[in-house]
Amino acid sequence: MSAATTTPEDLNPFHIAAQQFDRAVACMPDLKKGLIDCFKRPNRTVIVEFPVETDDGSIRIFTGYRVLHNQMRGPGKGGIRYHPAVTLDEVRALAAWMTWKCAVIDVPFGGAKGGIAFNPKEHSAADIRKITRRYIAELGDLIGPYTDIPAPDVYTDARTMAWIYDTYSMMHPGRNNLGVVTGKPLDIGGSHGRQEATARGCLFAAERALLRGLSPGRDGVDGARVVIQGFGNAGGNAAQLFRDAGATIIAVSDSKGGIHNDDGLDLAALAAHKEKAGSVVGAHGTRTISNAELLGLECDILIPAALECQLRADNAAAVRAKLILEAANGPTTPAADRILQERGIPVLPDILANSGGVCVSYFEWVQNNENEQWDLQEVNHKLRVKMERATDAVIEQQAQLNRQRGQLPADPGPTDLRTAALVLAVERVADVALKRGIWP
Ligand code: NAD
Repeated sequence: MSAATTTPEDLNPFHIAAQQFDRAVACMPDLKKGLIDCFKRPNRTVIVEFPVETDDGSIRIFTGYRVLHNQMRGPGKGGIRYHPAVTLDEVRALAAWMTWKCAVIDVPFGGAKGGIAFNPKEHSAADIRKITRRYIAELGDLIGPYTDIPAPDVYTDARTMAWIYDTYSMMHPGRNNLGVVTGKPLDIGGSHGRQEATARGCLFAAERALLRGLSPGRDGVDGARVVIQGFGNAGGNAAQLFRDAGATIIAVSDSKGGIHNDDGLDLAALAAHKEKAGSVVGAHGTRTISNAELLGLECDILIPAALECQLRADNAAAVRAKLILEAANGPTTPAADRILQERGIPVLPDILANSGGVCVSYFEWVQNNENEQWDLQEVNHKLRVKMERATDAVIEQQAQLNRQRGQLPADPGPTDLRTAALVLAVERVADVALKRGIWP
């Protein structure tokens, strides 16, 4: 066996983010070396360790992180994740991706991310409320409406955001604090359309990219056969919205496994089953499959909407989708990217495809600052405009990079959409950094 086949793939998300960045920077010979070094590191990394007295009467120590990657284009912005696998390197990667995402979708935010390493499924709502409040209290003034603004991510939701807002507001009485966090409930400064914004943005990006010829023989989502990994905020809403747009959802999964019905899933029945059973697995009229099987199903669009590193060196060759739409952050490793590119399977990358979430978070923040509430139609229209503009910009950047290949010191090969999106983002952030000037 060759060394290449025995070396395990590096699945550290921060290393993966760095590899993606290096690939983009190879196409940008004029980017200053100092800026490259600056963009590879987060601006600020905070670790908090704090005790919480849980329902069972014991006192447990929790470890929380908040990383501010870059704030050249505006305050830090990024979700908070509650998951046992949260690590500092994962949060650092997610924060960097947020910087690039905010630049691609062109909202005036930098990148940040947070997380607490614990399993919320093993805790009561009262425990989770205490853990959330203590974490936010520990972060103190490191977050704020004009400095660093959290949002939901894996296993956090509008209820968690309400607790974050309330805790911060208790610490800063007498002023409008609504802009400290987005993804809040509608009656606490939330925005219409935020709940399903990530999925809706995915749909708008996919429709635009297909219209522009990304997947030969298909000019829209109507009639597409779609497979979705993950059935939470991003994946569950994507199932509904893609179905409403005329697609057939043939398989979905969650942390307990997957289900498949080649004739299409009954989403109403599925939602009711998930509500009762706690998983999609076992829904009437479906065949149970593993997450590995799900990723290899033949389909028009595969939407990874769960966690990082799902498409890797060891399974990318088995993918039989015609297009991959990254609702999740970091679902495809660099090795998988290369395999998929060689096989002619385009990947609409996370920093474009799932940027609808942060886009409507930005709309929420604007509404909070103006004490306004826009109606759903207005939010969705504005989201569509932003997603289509960003999709066009990434596709045009890819074409431009492919035209310029011959002029580079070393030919980086054909440019994929991830690299094009990153080049677009890095150029936008670098441009602002140089215009502002490096302090002092
Ligand atoms: P969520 O907590 O609402 O849902 C996560 C889903 O993934 C759940 O259905 C869970 O069962 C499933 N899951 C967990 N582990 C799995 C596994 N090993 N295999 C298959 N499924 C698994 O989280 P979410 O907000 O939907 O986030 C999902 C992804 O989308 C993450 O990568 C997140 O960073 C990204 N994202 C979310 C938003 C947002 O606004 N919520 C925005 C942009 C990107």
